[in-house]
Amino acid sequence: MRSALPRFSPATFAACSGCDICALACPVWQQTHDVRLTPKGRATALQGGASAEDIVESLGACTLCGSCVPACPERIDLVGMTLGLRADLAAKGRSPLAPLAAGMIEPPREVSKANVRLKTVLLAEERLLADPSLLAAATLRLGGPAHVIVADDTGFDIAAALEAGIPVAPERLEEFLAGLRGALRVVTTEGFLNSFLRKWLPGTPIRSLGESCLALAETRRALRPTDLYLLDARAYHADFERLVPVYDTLRHETGCDLSLDLQHLAITTAANALNSRFGTGPVRVAEQVKWILEGRRPSRVVVENMEDGEAVRRERNMPVVHVAAISAAK
Ligand code: SF4
Ligand code: SF4
Repeated sequence: MRSALPRFSPATFAACSGCDICALACPVWQQTHDVRLTPKGRATALQGGASAEDIVESLGACTLCGSCVPACPERIDLVGMTLGLRADLAAKGRSPLAPLAAGMIEPPREVSKANVRLKTVLLAEERLLADPSLLAAATLRLGGPAHVIVADDTGFDIAAALEAGIPVAPERLEEFLAGLRGALRVVTTEGFLNSFLRKWLPGTPIRSLGESCLALAETRRALRPTDLYLLDARAYHADFERLVPVYDTLRHETGCDLSLDLQHLAITTAANALNSRFGTGPVRVAEQVKWILEGRRPSRVVVENMEDGEAVRRERNMPVVHVAAISAAK
């Protein structure tokens, strides 16, 4: 099996026309107004002959929210381009994120070999695993314990390595994927791995926990017109074309507000980005929350991603509830 992350391909940046549309969606631009740190800045530098090492700061700044990908009229895989360049840096020992990720890439020690055939496999983030009542509510929304396997191996180490550009050992990737093959669907609580999982497991539906909960009429009925629904930006942008009509219908049906801008791009809190976790990136989560709430006065915020929920709670004193729990919420 090949390495999980393709090395950087020059064909990706060559197509950039310099239109600058990506900047409008980019939290790095929003907060820094420094074009060098945007996809356009990276592409322009590379077109001019710069190497990955010449744009280390720009590569380390990206939150990988994916918002620029659907915005780009040239359809450049801008997240893939950044990840490929980070892999180039890591190969040369120059990745600014590799040392941060190093402490996070311990694989799980004990992994049960549950038979996932025709089951839903839930890749639950740590916070959800540590919250038994929310985990039980999520399991129920996905069909109940008889139909759902909560994976011991969430691939968290693989996601951290990929985000930093560190190669993933083929044996480790195979071990992770072996626990998912044959599943009816794989449900994720954070969307970074979604586009990878689609490539690794062709034919297996890869869904976010948020979308899976919203598929139930009971969940949709629990949403109010005064709610602000905060999408998991990475999951949304990773499957943008399919999900735009899904969330448009949700807004039409429930009247709730969504954390989308005028171009239907999800504004990220950036709380789950590796560089935000360690405070090395230029994007401040507090500013992102402010951007999302600007001009809005929701009675509560419904989140798909628990880190987003924590970010909103930290910055604003307002009710925040996870989408898996809204039926029971008062
Ligand atoms: S992935 Fe997000 S942070 Fe990175 S360049 Fe695109 S819009 Fe900006
Ligand atoms: S939107 Fe695409 S084509 Fe336009 S500047 Fe950004 S990367 Fe280049």
